[in-house]
Amino acid sequence: MARVIYVNGVYAPYADAGVHAEDRGFQFADGVYEVCEVRDGCLVDERRHMARLQRSLSELRMAEPMDLRSLGVILRETVRRNRVKNGMVYLQITRGVSRRDFAFPPADVAPSVVCFAHSLSREKGSKRAAAGISVITLPDIRWTRVDIKTTGLLAQSLARQQAKDAGADEAWMVDKDGFVTEGASCNAWIVTGAGKLVTRPAESGILRGITREVAMEAARAKGLRFEERPFTVEEAKSASEAFQTSASGLVMPVVRIDGHVIGSGMPGDIALELRKTYHNVAEISSPHELLA
Ligand code: PLP
Repeated sequence: MARVIYVNGVYAPYADAGVHAEDRGFQFADGVYEVCEVRDGCLVDERRHMARLQRSLSELRMAEPMDLRSLGVILRETVRRNRVKNGMVYLQITRGVSRRDFAFPPADVAPSVVCFAHSLSREKGSKRAAAGISVITLPDIRWTRVDIKTTGLLAQSLARQQAKDAGADEAWMVDKDGFVTEGASCNAWIVTGAGKLVTRPAESGILRGITREVAMEAARAKGLRFEERPFTVEEAKSASEAFQTSASGLVMPVVRIDGHVIGSGMPGDIALELRKTYHNVAEISSPHELLA
């Protein structure tokens, strides 16, 4: 089966799917993106992801390339044509192609739209969660508008590589006051000795993760107590549990931080419970049901 990528109106074979060298996504990382989980061929939390996409576009004064129903058709068609049953679908929108200039191009320059999808093994994800992952901590060197989901991911790429070089799975970034902001591509959580969930408020220093929001709903539904406040690396190391959330990793237990064992060294009960019940709270849209 030939894989395809949607690029500006065409479902192109993988080898031919390119954007112009003067695309502002390539020149300036002047673009935004979203990533949705695909589960049994259905999009998970499409409505929330598309609402965040609209916000990212608006914060960067970038035009919406088309309405949400049309974007929904592209997402579904990309998933279908690549026969992704379980995996991820990525949508990237840039400010388009224009002669290189820092200031925005003329208003009639069309945004570029790219969509691609990858399969992911659910079994592998479950195995990873059953063992738990390890993270390292490092300084957060990103710009201050991390609330916008832009394609400018160089700091996160460097952080993830540093984690990999250290034999760890993820990097949690730390602000200048010693508080954890978030992971390279996930939100960070701990559970205190008193059983309270703690995660940093989305108002400062992090991306408002969709999985974070849904995990909060799942926690509320279970009657778990949680608090949105910053926590330090030291507090995380002495927590009874730690975990992270993202559309690709879902609720993923963390069992080591900078080599320090968390809790019993095994994934925590609360993290595993939230992972198990996550999709009861998430919105799963059928392949034929487009957003209104
Ligand atoms: N924080 C960052 C920096 C991310 O890149 C991501 C996901 O890519 C998240 C948090 C988690 O967001 P979501 O749960 O919407 O996938």
